[in-house]
Amino acid sequence: MNNEQSITNKLINAFSALPGVGRKTAERFVFFLLKQPKEFLENFGADLKELPNHNFFCPQCFNYSEARTVCPVCADSKRDRAAICVVENFHDLNVIEATKEYNGLYHCLGGKIDPPEGITPDKLRVKELLERIQNDHIQEVILALNPDLSGEGTIIYLKKILAPLNVKISLLARGLPMGGEIEYADEVTLANAIKGRRILN
Ligand SMILES: [Zn+2]
Repeated sequence: MNNEQSITNKLINAFSALPGVGRKTAERFVFFLLKQPKEFLENFGADLKELPNHNFFCPQCFNYSEARTVCPVCADSKRDRAAICVVENFHDLNVIEATKEYNGLYHCLGGKIDPPEGITPDKLRVKELLERIQNDHIQEVILALNPDLSGEGTIIYLKKILAPLNVKISLLARGLPMGGEIEYADEVTLANAIKGRRILN
């Protein structure tokens, strides 16, 4: 058996599993890697191998964190600590960060409520969100969830349970297409959606 063939196939399969990468792109990645110097490949491999040891969640907002400490956003003393932007995951957090339009804190829910998929509110970090709002004197909660069916359902649920908490609730302005994803929105559209957010209560 040709061993070299099997390792390239294994790598093509691994890259194909990445979000947004099809088989053709995965093949291009592997051909690119084959042309790289040994040192590049060894460093790349060593970094990948080390990754599981740096895979932590921020204990405050559940953003990705490289260490067992709060993430750079939560650690930044210049942020507005009275606002929390609720996002599905740290991808969406990064996309909103890239617009530079928002200077508050975040809360990564870990998904959206989707009962047919078995994702009920207790599977998400809803309890932690309520605790933060109550304990940290939060004044505004921005619900930055994807404008699709389960995103809308999650917004309705959160609106209901946040209602008694005396906190301003706002939604991203329309402009994000229905069914669109924050992750793929262009920065200008998303920046406008944050600036033009509307207060719900
Ligand atoms: Zn954090």
